[in-house]
Amino acid sequence: MPELPEVETIRRDLVPKVVGRSIRQASILTPRLTRRAGTPASVAAGLIGRRIRALLRRGKFFQFDLGETSLIVRLGMTGQLRWWRDRESCQGDEHTHAFLHFDEGGVLTYRDVRKFGELFLVPTEAVEAALRVGPEPLEDAFSVGALRRICQSGARVKSVLLDQRKIAGLGNIYADEALFRAKIRPTRRAASLSEEELRALRGAIRFVLAAAIRQRGSSISDFRDPCGEPGGFAPRHRVYQCHGTPCRVCGTAIRRILVAQRGTHFCPTCQR
Ligand SMILES: [Zn+2]
Repeated sequence: MPELPEVETIRRDLVPKVVGRSIRQASILTPRLTRRAGTPASVAAGLIGRRIRALLRRGKFFQFDLGETSLIVRLGMTGQLRWWRDRESCQGDEHTHAFLHFDEGGVLTYRDVRKFGELFLVPTEAVEAALRVGPEPLEDAFSVGALRRICQSGARVKSVLLDQRKIAGLGNIYADEALFRAKIRPTRRAASLSEEELRALRGAIRFVLAAAIRQRGSSISDFRDPCGEPGGFAPRHRVYQCHGTPCRVCGTAIRRILVAQRGTHFCPTCQR
């Protein structure tokens, strides 16, 4: 599932292609994608003729700022935003559910095999209220103090890291990778973390997210950039889907367990 680094990679690639340009024609083919608000026809009608003023990211959501309204896109499990230079080169298949045609050529398509993703319009001033996500972990506001408040919870630290209302943009991959680098076992109660562990965890979260953005994300299954290319961070994973292989630090076999119904990977020796 795309997490913060994958969404940010796509955003950065799309900014020079779409910002400042107007949507000439829009078609959304699948009602499920607009289930949060409106219909395919009403969302498409709200896009036609609008100019994209900015393309922002909040957690795992894209925000296409159209002025008074914003188009929000969430990729869900298998969503892909793809850019095509012109109508002639644009190739949709049975999983391509939306086409945005831009002035002066260029087509943005939304493809999603499992259709857990979403496209919806909200008033731009109401975006924060609509998305209800916690602080951005790469921003300065995500301090040790902020993480300490987030961790005042009896829940397991892995569950807390996955909760989008507490921290924006972390998912299963980067939660596991950050906990490994911070040497914290995913099953620990969040409130039990020491000051030193909180500092290590904040640093590890920021480190893995920044490193993954530099490598253009992790392609475990479906993630592709807007040109259809995979990201390069998966070979640098230390624990995620590495179960059974030796820990790079101590040689103990990496284990996989379930925490909050999610596959969770850790080193039983390094992580306490
Ligand atoms: Zn280890």
